[in-house]
Amino acid sequence: MPVYTKTFTPSENKTLTEFIVPIIKGTKEILIKGDYHPKIVNDIQVTNNLIGQAVNEYLRFDGKDSVFFGPNWDYYQNNYIKNAIKWFSPIRNLFNYTLIDPNGLVRARGNNNFFETMQINKEKASIGSVSGALPAGEWRLIVEAHAVISELVKLSIEVNLNQKFTPGIKATEKYRAELRDFHKKEPLFKEERESPGWFGGDFHIHSHHSDGDHSVYELMTYLHGKGLDFFVLTDHNTTLGWKEKYFSKTLVIPGIEISTFFGHFVLINWIGDINWFSLERKSTFEDIAVEIKRKGALLSVAHPECISDPICTGCRWNYPNFCWGTADIMEVWAGSWSERRAENIKTLKRWENLLNQGLKVIAVSGSDIHQLEPYKKDYGRTYVWAKSKTREGIMEGLKKGKVYITCGPKINFQLMTDKDVFVSLGEELEVDCNTSIELLINIENKKNKKKLHIELIKNGLVYNSYDSFLEHIELDWSDKVTKNCWYYLRLLDEKKCIVGLTNPIFIICH
Ligand SMILES: [Zn+2]
Ligand SMILES: [Zn+2]
Repeated sequence: MPVYTKTFTPSENKTLTEFIVPIIKGTKEILIKGDYHPKIVNDIQVTNNLIGQAVNEYLRFDGKDSVFFGPNWDYYQNNYIKNAIKWFSPIRNLFNYTLIDPNGLVRARGNNNFFETMQINKEKASIGSVSGALPAGEWRLIVEAHAVISELVKLSIEVNLNQKFTPGIKATEKYRAELRDFHKKEPLFKEERESPGWFGGDFHIHSHHSDGDHSVYELMTYLHGKGLDFFVLTDHNTTLGWKEKYFSKTLVIPGIEISTFFGHFVLINWIGDINWFSLERKSTFEDIAVEIKRKGALLSVAHPECISDPICTGCRWNYPNFCWGTADIMEVWAGSWSERRAENIKTLKRWENLLNQGLKVIAVSGSDIHQLEPYKKDYGRTYVWAKSKTREGIMEGLKKGKVYITCGPKINFQLMTDKDVFVSLGEELEVDCNTSIELLINIENKKNKKKLHIELIKNGLVYNSYDSFLEHIELDWSDKVTKNCWYYLRLLDEKKCIVGLTNPIFIICH
C-alpha cells in the first residue's frame, strides 16, 4: 500500500506539500487515511506561553472610542485571560489534505475526518468526498500544514487503490449524481415566493461536509425553528453540501469558506471548487476575484479580527497584498457579540475605516456554528430587504446594502431632504452642499424592556445619541451636509454590547 510521508518542522508551518498519486486504469476504489504525531503540544509551559501571547494580541485595542469599553470591559478582559488556558488547551498541530483528480476536481478533503478512512468509488463516497469514476492518471495529494508547533511532526497518508469495493466503511453517502453534472444540477431547495420584505438570515454556517456535526437537512430544520428565513452554507473549502436535496421553508444560499493560511473568506452564492492552492502561492486575489464576480458571487471577509495562531490557525485576516476593494462584504458581527466583543469591536473599527476610504463594504453577521446548540441570543441576524424570499431576491438586496444586523430590535433608518426625497440603507443621496437633511429613525424594541442606547454615527464618529426604555422609539434628527459623508445607526445595551447596527446611507455633495 502506498504511504506518503513527511516530517515537518515549525519552519514549514503554513506551507503546502504536494504528492503525486498515480492511479492506474481499472482502479475501482480509493481508500485514504491520514495520521500524524504528535497531535498536540505536550509541553505545558510552551502551551501556556503561546496561549498567553495570542490572548494578549486578541484583547489589545488601541482605539479611543471609549463607548465600546463600557462598564464590563475590565471584567470581560480578566475573565478571558483567566479562562484562556482552560478554553484553548491543548494546542494542536494541524494538517488537512485535499485529493484532486486529473480533471482538477476535489475528490476528498481531510479535515476533522483526517484520521478516518475516507472511501471514494463510483457509487459511494465518505461525507466530504465525491463519488464517481476514478480517472487514471496523476492525482494530486496536497497536504496543508496549518499548524506545526512541535519540533518534529511525522505525517503519513495511506492511499489504498483497490480493484473492488470495500463494504462496510462507515459514514458514507449514496451515489447521487454523475460527476459531470456536478456543476449543472441544482438542488431542489423550495424557494417560497413571498412578497417583498425584510428577511433575516445567517451568513456563516458549517455542515458535516467540512468540520460541522450536522447534515444540511438537520441545519435547515433547526434554523427554521429559530425563525431564520435563510442561511448561507459555508463549509471549509467545499460546496458538497449543496448536493443534498431537501425541501424546507428555510432558504439555503450556496457558499464556501475558503480557509487559507492568512485568513478565511466566504463566497456567497457560489457552487464548486476554487483553486485556492494557487492563490496561496501567488498571494494575489486578482485572478479569482474576476471569476467570483463573473459567477455572480460576493466575497466576504470572515471574522477578520478573530483570535489567531496557534489557537485558531489562519483565522485572523492578514492576507498579504490584499486589496480591500476586492471585498464586497465584511463579517462585522462574528458569533456572539458579548463573547467575541474584543474582535467585533476591532472589526467594526476596521469597517468604518474602509467606509472612510470610500469603499462600500457591506456589513453582515455570521454565527459560524458547527453544532446546533446553543444558538445564542446575541448571534447577529442579518436582515436583507428583498423583493422575494429567493436566492436572487436576497442577493439583489445584499448587493445594494439594504441590510441591517440585530439580535432583537427592528430598525428603520431613512434620510429625507427638504424636497421630500427619501433614501434608505445602502443608498446614495446626491444633494447640493449646505443642504439640510432629516434623519428618521424608527426602532421597535418589544422583547427587551431594558434601556437601549442609540447612536448615530457620521463618518465613524458619534454624531448624536439617545437613551430609551420605550418599545417604540421614533427619532427625527437633522444635519446640514457640507461634504460627502455616510451615516449608520448602532444600538447598544446596558453592558455596551451592540444589539443592532445598520449599513450606511451615503451622501454625495455637489
Ligand atoms: Zn473561519
Ligand atoms: Zn467558519
